[in-house]
Amino acid sequence: MSISEILIHLGEDRDQYFNAVAPPVIQSSNFVFPDLTAFRQVFSNELEHHVYSRGNNPTVEILRRKLAALEGTEDCLVFSSGAGAVAAAVIGNVQAGDHIVCQQAPYSWTSSLLRKFLPRFGVEHTFVDATDVVNIRTALRPNTRVLYLESPNTMTFECQDLSACAALAREHGIVTIIDNSYSSPVFQNPAAFGIDIVVHSGTKYLNGHSDVVVGVLCAEKEMVKKIFESELMTLGGILGPHDAALVIRGLRTLSLRLQRSDASAQFLIGKLEKHPKVERIWYPFHHSFPQVELAKKQMRGCGGLFSVQFRTASPEQMEQFVHRLKRFLMAVSWGGHESLMMPAIGFYGIPGKPAPALPWTFCRFYIGLEEPDWLWGDLEQALEVL
Ligand SMILES: *Cc1c(COP(=O)(O)O)cnc(C)c1O
Repeated sequence: MSISEILIHLGEDRDQYFNAVAPPVIQSSNFVFPDLTAFRQVFSNELEHHVYSRGNNPTVEILRRKLAALEGTEDCLVFSSGAGAVAAAVIGNVQAGDHIVCQQAPYSWTSSLLRKFLPRFGVEHTFVDATDVVNIRTALRPNTRVLYLESPNTMTFECQDLSACAALAREHGIVTIIDNSYSSPVFQNPAAFGIDIVVHSGTKYLNGHSDVVVGVLCAEKEMVKKIFESELMTLGGILGPHDAALVIRGLRTLSLRLQRSDASAQFLIGKLEKHPKVERIWYPFHHSFPQVELAKKQMRGCGGLFSVQFRTASPEQMEQFVHRLKRFLMAVSWGGHESLMMPAIGFYGIPGKPAPALPWTFCRFYIGLEEPDWLWGDLEQALEVL
């Protein structure tokens, strides 16, 4: 199936709703059973039938079908946030006494789940430099149940060899989970490399308009059913039909948006790498990236997220540079229509917080849908102060 067929048509049974082109928002908490036969039938499978919207809802189901097809898995669940999807994937596969191996620099709240939350329930973890699969093998214990990956991660874009990780985990009966938010399903499909569960912060590229917080979990039917019956139904972190409809709308342009962000990021990187005040560029497909070959083997593109280390002598100059940027908004997140920057220096000097691992000369940029020339104009004038 082509990607546009998935984004524009799959899951939309238009004859079920007056042949409307855009699907309706089925804003209903519960669904009627015409008779006892139907009652018994729908209760036998709440994941696929319509009983109650904490389980399944027709608008949400359209979104689930599209996302499963995009990742090439049998099914998908959606959550009220990416953090909710990450937590469901991990918690659904461990119990007290188990151990998790995780790549060393995951998303901050994923790290928090492992460091602070799960130890309260007797689940241990080891963070490893997973750029080399040997380090993962060394960290495995008899009670290791989950290997958690994020490739690339979203500040320095470290990658893991997905085929090698999947093979190692399979050999030991370990479930593999990957956070695929950076690449989106347009540029990387981890299930094709043998990864068991693919999660996304759909808040980023999938919705793409900076107006919904949403999480995605894609896997084979058996795994999805297990997590549906436990973490989704019990903890209840569901996506409502209104938000689902917004994400369906966002998906219409997913591949167009990614092509645009990717091309603009490459244009800007081409300008930046020639600038004397740029010390280093972090982007998986950049020739200087340490894992560029692996990245190109696993990914079809990179998208709009990259980082730059600037050459400047003083933190004051770095602060001036940040304040002179007007067309890049200073904000967390990424993947929407608007270009953003997140300077590491902003994390320095926060009362009660230790200095971060990243140098203060480091800044992450996200390139949105604006004209790349217009964005370069902003960077060029701000670079004058460095
Ligand atoms: C934003 C993000 C998350 C968390 O997703 P939310 O939708 O904010 O809960 C998880 N992983 C990565 C890589 C992210 O960028």
